[in-house]
Amino acid sequence: MNISPDMASLIGATPLIRLRQPSEQTGCTILGKAEFLNPGGSIKDRTALGLMLDAERSGRLRPGGTVVEGTAGNTGIGLALLGASRGYRAVITLPETQSREKIDALRVTGAEVRLVPAVPYANPAHYAHVARRLSEDMNQAAPGSAWFADQFDNTANRDFHEASTGVEIWEQTDGQIDGFVCATGTGGTLAGVGRALKARKPSVTIALADPAGSALASYVNSGELKAEGGSISEGIGSSRITANFRDAPIDLAWSIDDAESLPWVHALLAGEGLNVGGSSGVNVAGAVRLARALGPGHTIVTVLADTGTRYQAKLFNPAFLHAKGLPVPQWLERAFPAATH
Ligand code: PMP
Repeated sequence: MNISPDMASLIGATPLIRLRQPSEQTGCTILGKAEFLNPGGSIKDRTALGLMLDAERSGRLRPGGTVVEGTAGNTGIGLALLGASRGYRAVITLPETQSREKIDALRVTGAEVRLVPAVPYANPAHYAHVARRLSEDMNQAAPGSAWFADQFDNTANRDFHEASTGVEIWEQTDGQIDGFVCATGTGGTLAGVGRALKARKPSVTIALADPAGSALASYVNSGELKAEGGSISEGIGSSRITANFRDAPIDLAWSIDDAESLPWVHALLAGEGLNVGGSSGVNVAGAVRLARALGPGHTIVTVLADTGTRYQAKLFNPAFLHAKGLPVPQWLERAFPAATH
């Protein structure tokens, strides 16, 4: 018999898929780590598991305890599903601007969902601060009852990506990898994978694909946290340097706008049957930039972080995209004719 004991055992060990169109356009081999195949539907299942295992080991999360976290959605979904599987309650705060589909996916996990206004991190009403205060209040009322996962500044996030995502990519490519690129939210994926790969092969180029509206590309290139424009992508970009991002070994960084990334979301679906979310579009656009920087013949890995169905009403909605002035492929216009007028 070959049986998986529980939901946690389904996390990770995702396939690495050759992305045909970006590979053909650049003469490189561009590979996507299929993180949308995780049981909670995103790469953040790994983060949730890494943080939770660390908290269980250290005794900060006790049997029957409450998990509290602030999230753009995917980490909350991962934590809540793991909680359902392992006997923890989940209380999740997230900005009300996140996609309806993600909020609904979170609600059906049984988590207590608290939507808060989308405000900058410096504002005490920011979702991460609200979550931290909630956990402090719970622990004051019942000591040891709540655990604040703290995905942005708890480096168990990065460490788990180093030990799982990074090692998997190394083994799946037999070490024949020249570059890795992705966008960051917490920084856990980029820092963790970057460290795993650099430790094994210092010549691997690690690159940041930063969405417009985020300050990180400017920080890497000039030392200044400066943001321009905005993006419809969710779960990525930052106005500050998190503990997970701080020591990431980054060689190159680009700011990538929606007009560059969104066509990749549509092309992966129409041309390769891969339905992925907006951050994956930024990642693939970043992989194409890295391929052009390294030249033909190189192998580049990026991340397909979650599924496009989580953003149906935005990424695949002609009316929404037209209103944002973004390109809409003909096939999408035909699929939703009423919505285009
Ligand atoms: N893509 C998506 C869809 C996400 O939800 C996140 C995390 N919020 C990321 C990418 C970024 O991953 P990380 O937090 O590891 O930087």
